Amino acid sequence: MDDGEGSGGLSLPSLPVRKMRLLNLVMIVAVFPFCLTGCTKEESTEGFFALCPLGKVDGNLLDRMCRFVEIAYGFPCKVMPPLPLPSRTYNAVRKQYRASELLDYLEENAPKGARKLVGVTEKDIYAREMNFIFGLANSPGKCCVASTARLHESFWGNRENELLLRRRALMIVYHELGHTFGIKHCNKIECAMCYHNSLHELDPGNVWFCQDCTQKLEKAVGRLPDDREARIAEFLLEIGLKKDAQLYAEGKGRKE
Ligand SMILES: [Zn+2]
Ligand SMILES: [Zn+2]
Repeated sequence: MDDGEGSGGLSLPSLPVRKMRLLNLVMIVAVFPFCLTGCTKEESTEGFFALCPLGKVDGNLLDRMCRFVEIAYGFPCKVMPPLPLPSRTYNAVRKQYRASELLDYLEENAPKGARKLVGVTEKDIYAREMNFIFGLANSPGKCCVASTARLHESFWGNRENELLLRRRALMIVYHELGHTFGIKHCNKIECAMCYHNSLHELDPGNVWFCQDCTQKLEKAVGRLPDDREARIAEFLLEIGLKKDAQLYAEGKGRKE
């Protein structure tokens, strides 16, 4: 069910894996959460995906994330009324929110009937020794959280780039939801399930799952819609992401 890794999403089941992970943590500054459990077929095909703003979040961006998720995962998606960011999850010294506690908070506040719940925040988040993270998921599980704070070029002192922000946000939500279905990190840099340390690694990737990850997703959800690739291509084109749309239009990553 939803608690394969407990509420933290970073809980580690075995000692050898734990040692490897600690080594990794020394070397990196920001990561997506590790996914150490296998792909799990979910029993029910019912329910909807919910996107819940945590505090104030750009409504247009949320709407696009929700529409993308709906097409890519093949489930209805709703943007929920915002939940306040709980002060207990804030680290005043680091000026960041603890992602694992946000996952607990989301689990406690999951809307009835929601199959997946994505918390989206504009605030900076972190987990354990990492300087920051883009997102964290219970894997496999119901909830994940995504931060858009560092997806803004303005965060880094550059001119804002709406298209880039949009693209990054779609990649993060695609990735974290993949983890909730038990999909592990992929070794293909072009795949959205690849492990990304920074925007320098994220940006060369795509709003796209490779064929292997698409097959894992289909196994986990049961069945993906036949017109999925065409609809994603159409949507990405509509929101200005031509290169990513092209991948789908060319049939790359198709599930068969
Ligand atoms: Zn990840
Ligand atoms: Zn992949």
